[in-house]
Amino acid sequence: MALDFGQTARQMMSAMGGLSSTARSRRQRFADTLDRALAITPDEAAQRTASAGSRPFIVARTGPEGLLDSIPPPSPPRDWMAVSVDGSHIDVDRHLPLRCYLINLGGCVLTYGASPDCRFFSEPTLATGEGDLYLRPDDGSNGETPISGALLGALRTVQEVERLADAVETAPPTVPVLALLDGTLAFWDIQRGNYPRYVVEKLVNDRLRGALARLREASRVQRPVALAAYTSRPQTTEVAGAVRAGLCVSNATECTRRCSARRSDLAQCDGAAGFDDRELFDALLEPGHRSPLYQTGRRASHFAMDLAVGTEWSRFYYVNSGTEVARVEVPDWVAEDPELLATGHAMLAKQCELGLGYPVVISEAHEQAVVSGRDREEFRKLALLLMERNGLPTPESAKTLSKRMPWA
Ligand SMILES: [Zn+2]
Repeated sequence: MALDFGQTARQMMSAMGGLSSTARSRRQRFADTLDRALAITPDEAAQRTASAGSRPFIVARTGPEGLLDSIPPPSPPRDWMAVSVDGSHIDVDRHLPLRCYLINLGGCVLTYGASPDCRFFSEPTLATGEGDLYLRPDDGSNGETPISGALLGALRTVQEVERLADAVETAPPTVPVLALLDGTLAFWDIQRGNYPRYVVEKLVNDRLRGALARLREASRVQRPVALAAYTSRPQTTEVAGAVRAGLCVSNATECTRRCSARRSDLAQCDGAAGFDDRELFDALLEPGHRSPLYQTGRRASHFAMDLAVGTEWSRFYYVNSGTEVARVEVPDWVAEDPELLATGHAMLAKQCELGLGYPVVISEAHEQAVVSGRDREEFRKLALLLMERNGLPTPESAKTLSKRMPWA
């Protein structure tokens, strides 16, 4: 017998009715949560979030700017620059007899004001040497970790920051700079990867820290450098967690016992559960405005295997880009300098406005860095062809390929 659509439709309709009344009560709950959260003073919020302990949800720490606010951007400086570096890579291909990977760094430098200018670069680097293909411990012991997959992605991120530092150092030393990275520097991939300690020490401690120190130094001795990492469509819930911690009447111990990540049997805590940060700031921020500054509630050790990158790179705010709410991570030297933080916000808001909802300098850098599917295919053909020309054994006939190669 065929499916009885009469019965199915009736059941579906009654489920939909339930959904829309759930949506209505959720909207009401959200409005109530916002109202109550907006009444929490900055001192109260700082105290509640600092003592949040290990609640069953992540809680961002709030600072002097309070729990929730909509802060307008000041005007950008008369002359200023925006710099961004992005990267993409071609991973090691085990079907190619030549072990290699390629990192392509793309960048964009935009100058605004009296003498406007724009510059682009695209720099591919092929890695084939042992020293580039493997990470090895400095102490001479015989461990080695091949650079591929998530680790190659992390190396690429480190190179992006290094190249960004080069670009900032060679820019005119008098004009304020907005230095933007796409994404986050939290290195989730490396953290999940469970790599040997020397891998993290080399990548994060030596190289990433080195590049960040150069950017900080450029800001200290020359002109303001507002460094930031920009995440579009963030899925974080830390500020929503801070709101919940501010409203949950119980202490962390009781909350841990009676509340879960999604709900609670305590009315105040339950009413504030189940929202995310984007939802909050969609409702609160006008275009160009930013949220207060927060400190991430994730433990520093979670940032990079107890090398605690998080301590210097754990502050963030949200900004309304004009079309969405984005998350912006800033290093400590930006977070602790109110003037630099404000200038950075001003330049970022302008970038979003110019890019119709996305920082124009990041999209331009991405355009320079991207390696398309067609590029990948051509790269593979080129490798096979050159191997054949050099008399190396190839897995398939490169001769037939060579006839079709436009550049051969
Ligand atoms: Zn609770």
